[in-house]
Amino acid sequence: MSGLLTGLFEAFATTLREMFRKPVTIQYPEEKKPLSARARWRIVLTRDPEGEERCVACYLCSAVCPVSCISMQSADRGDGRRYPEWFRINFGRCILCGMCEEACPTLAIQLTPDYEFCKYKALDMVYEKEDLLIDGTGKDREYNFYKHAGIGVVNPKGKNPDEYGPVDIRSNMP
Ligand code: SF4
Ligand code: SF4
Repeated sequence: MSGLLTGLFEAFATTLREMFRKPVTIQYPEEKKPLSARARWRIVLTRDPEGEERCVACYLCSAVCPVSCISMQSADRGDGRRYPEWFRINFGRCILCGMCEEACPTLAIQLTPDYEFCKYKALDMVYEKEDLLIDGTGKDREYNFYKHAGIGVVNPKGKNPDEYGPVDIRSNMP
């Protein structure tokens, strides 16, 4: 009997104590919790500092994606640059793992802190290139892939920063 009374007393005491504690509930969406510095959400396609599309349609992000939610069709601009004719991400399947961003050699695809992009219909979660491509450079403002790739698109071959000039094979002959 005394055990029952002790249990009841403890339960009432807990209720009383919690009534005066500051609530921890956040009234979303009016109130928002600060995100961590490494939060990764909505994916965008960025541009280089000259305003050109960074994506060269190499399919690496699509190949590495563990849930196969990226698809695209590559095309050639005729000046040495490749680009995606169309580029699609199905956010209904995306697990926001960030592997596409890790794999991208041109820093085109980037995850952003924008987490408010849910939709009521599953098909509205399929984002096309026009929904993904932004005007800005994203995280790395100075990077232009063609200034490091050494294929002579932006600068002549061998004239990019930190790049050796083309080898004169005749100079290697005995
Ligand atoms: S974040 Fe992960 S799941 Fe989402 S598109 Fe990139 S690789 Fe695929
Ligand atoms: S976003 Fe990056 S990894 Fe994906 S196709 Fe474009 S350049 Fe390649």
